[in-house]
Amino acid sequence: MAKKQKVRYFLVFIVFVMLLSEVQETKGKDDAWLKRWRKENPVWRGLHLSVNSGEKLGVLKDLIREYLEPMGFNILIAEVGYSYRFEKFEGMGSEGLNGEQARELSKFCRARGIRIIPLFNCLGHQPKKKNRASLLRMYPQFDETPRKPWGTKKLYSREWCPMHPDLYPVVFELLDELISAFDADAFHVGMDEVFLIGDKDCPRCKNTPVGLLYSWAVNQLYYHIVKEKGLEMLMWGDRFLDSNEMKDYSSWESSKTGSHTAVDFVPRDIIICDWHYRMNSPEFPSVRFFREKGFTRILPSTWHYPEAALKFWEVSQRDAPEQVSGILFTGWGTGRNGELLLKVMRDYENREKHPKMPRGIAEAIKQCVKEMDNSIKSK
Ligand SMILES: [Zn+2]
Repeated sequence: MAKKQKVRYFLVFIVFVMLLSEVQETKGKDDAWLKRWRKENPVWRGLHLSVNSGEKLGVLKDLIREYLEPMGFNILIAEVGYSYRFEKFEGMGSEGLNGEQARELSKFCRARGIRIIPLFNCLGHQPKKKNRASLLRMYPQFDETPRKPWGTKKLYSREWCPMHPDLYPVVFELLDELISAFDADAFHVGMDEVFLIGDKDCPRCKNTPVGLLYSWAVNQLYYHIVKEKGLEMLMWGDRFLDSNEMKDYSSWESSKTGSHTAVDFVPRDIIICDWHYRMNSPEFPSVRFFREKGFTRILPSTWHYPEAALKFWEVSQRDAPEQVSGILFTGWGTGRNGELLLKVMRDYENREKHPKMPRGIAEAIKQCVKEMDNSIKSK
């Protein structure tokens, strides 16, 4: 084994031991609102949305006021990414909320019992077009595959190099700005659909097991967000699932890169957003898997297929009743700030006239919320 590689393994191991040695329970932000929220909301009822427009902040407020609050939603995962006007990274973000609007939205949500959690895609899902705002445009040295041309259709998305020594200080500053702007007590780091990691052209990563690279990235983020900042951390769960074990899951919702071995080297109090949208694997074995691996909180995450969403919720209740923290409805395909979802909600009786994604999401929400309300009444 090369000397450099041994050093990397050792570093990953040390970080893991450091994390395990800090046995105290994650405190999260210690304020009265959060304490009360935790007490009143044992079951998370969450919606994920692309919150990417400052101009359409009113649309999102309408959606919250007219539907989310009355339907008992208590979580809003706001995927902002680069659609945020960063102050410390001028020119990095564009078109999204500014700091003032983020604070305004956060207060608006809190006043309605909704906890807002910003989401920024870490590692994967980096824009592949050079004219788009991105970390890699500003810091091309962090690119995992710098030789691959920008804008190529062959590339799903670009990725950061998880082992670049200068990457994390920059990323932490970026995340800190969002944490501060949203006054966040939890943060979602994304990390789904990472495919290029460990590329043979990367001098730092080549020949290193992908599971180690991935766990290194997760632990870096965890240490900053949870241990240093005192927040809770959420992430998508797909890279921890082995597609050979879970054959009916697609290669999007489970991993073929070897990243799944990272699951044994990350802290158990990360909230795993276990996303599966269709009925291709109707037993949803990942819920049981994450429970058996010792994760304390699992959030089944659905999309625009109501039948699958209901089934996923049912299986989750059966397979991990103690660990399943609630449900997360993902809102991709609902336009800016959920504008298309608001439209279909307002016109629900004529929903057939609306595009299939917002329509399916609205149906999934209505049906699952009804089911959840019924189960509360019957208790
Ligand atoms: Zn690399």
